[in-house]
Amino acid sequence: MIINTAFQTMLDNTRDLIFVKDINLVYVAASRPFVQMAGKESVQDVVGRSDMEIFADEGLAKRYIADDRKLLQAGENLVDYIEPLTDEEGEARYGSTSKYILKDEQGQTIGILGITRDITRDYVTRQRYQQELKYLFKLPADTMAVSYIDVDSWRIITQRKQLIQGATLQSCFTVEELSKTAVDSIVEKDGDAAQFYRNFTQQALQEIYASGRSTLNFHYQRYFSDGTIRWVRNEIRFLTDADSGHLCAMLSAKDIDEKKQEEQRLVEAAMLDKMTGLLNRATTMENIQQILDEDTEKTHVLYMIDIDNFKSLNDTLGHQKGDEFLTALAAELKGCFRESDVVGRIGGDEFFAFMRNVSGYAVMERKAQELLNVINRVCVRYPNIQMSGSIGIGVYPENGISLETLYEQADMALYEAKRKGKNQYVFA
Ligand code: GH3
Ligand code: MG
Repeated sequence: MIINTAFQTMLDNTRDLIFVKDINLVYVAASRPFVQMAGKESVQDVVGRSDMEIFADEGLAKRYIADDRKLLQAGENLVDYIEPLTDEEGEARYGSTSKYILKDEQGQTIGILGITRDITRDYVTRQRYQQELKYLFKLPADTMAVSYIDVDSWRIITQRKQLIQGATLQSCFTVEELSKTAVDSIVEKDGDAAQFYRNFTQQALQEIYASGRSTLNFHYQRYFSDGTIRWVRNEIRFLTDADSGHLCAMLSAKDIDEKKQEEQRLVEAAMLDKMTGLLNRATTMENIQQILDEDTEKTHVLYMIDIDNFKSLNDTLGHQKGDEFLTALAAELKGCFRESDVVGRIGGDEFFAFMRNVSGYAVMERKAQELLNVINRVCVRYPNIQMSGSIGIGVYPENGISLETLYEQADMALYEAKRKGKNQYVFA
């Protein structure tokens, strides 16, 4: 009685595929996962039926029946053989199957008990072992180092490294040393990678593996012993050691610095004005808007700068000289402001400079005068051309609280500066 209850409890709760068939290969009992695998709703759809009645795939049903007949004829149990399965989504999986012949008290064969356990993850992890071993002999060209870690006995089995661009990772003899070195050398101490290595414990890795993950990767910037900072990509691949059966992890560090820098260049290229290297119009507007959104309580000032008679430089010395002037001027303008201010070229000979968090008009005027001086210093490099700068100034919040209004006000002030004879600044 208790055996029956125990068996039924197991059938109702197990994650394994379990079935019992009688001597005629008719199902007597099945676990829930088995019912699901057969594509049926409830145990009632399975019990009392044969494989031919249950499985839509006739070939599969015939194979099951043939296998079981052979087993009964041979009279020997089958233990832990690996068979490929497919799940409901048609994904390939691996099962470890055992089939036991059931006998009554008189020793008469009365049926079969079958148990299949899904071992896909472990099987794949084990298969990967051969494939990963190659790292222990020869590292790929972009790989700085590989550490082969036995997670279950928490030690480094072996570590290999090679120089890439004169840099590589430090040798470590214990896993603790490895994670400490990692934390120390990661540039961003609060970043995900540093956090990860702070929690780099046996238990954490076992839990990640148990959660069904077989690989893990992340990238970050890291200091090297030669003082350089480079982008590195870490990859952790779990595998099962063929000899010990232990859970192991292959931790590799690849140099991705050039790739990252190229990505960075592309991002910046989209944000910057190609010729001068200042922020382009769109980025300038975005950055100013962000300050207006974040810092509503402070006073800010927008300078709209336009070169006077710039066309005559182009007309007299050519466009190339004009470009050279704009590039030199951009660098000078940028030099007048803090990193947290916004300086951009919004088109032609027009520039925006947005100074955040200013204490009062005296500072704004002094900066405006400084800008005129700086512009004139660049203009005098072209002595035969009469150039100077005009500046329209909009103050937040006095002249407007939206970027649109500030822009409009500064633009009108700039027009006023031109009208009044150029080479001056005008407040809105
Ligand atoms: P104003 O004193 O009224 O400002 O007149 P301006 O001669 O400076 O001319 P304006 O500001 O109206 O126009 C700017 C000129 O700058 C128009 C265009 O020929 C020239 N320009 C625009 N972009 C570039 C550029 O990338 N390189 C060069 N060399 N010239 C440019
Ligand atoms: Mg101009």
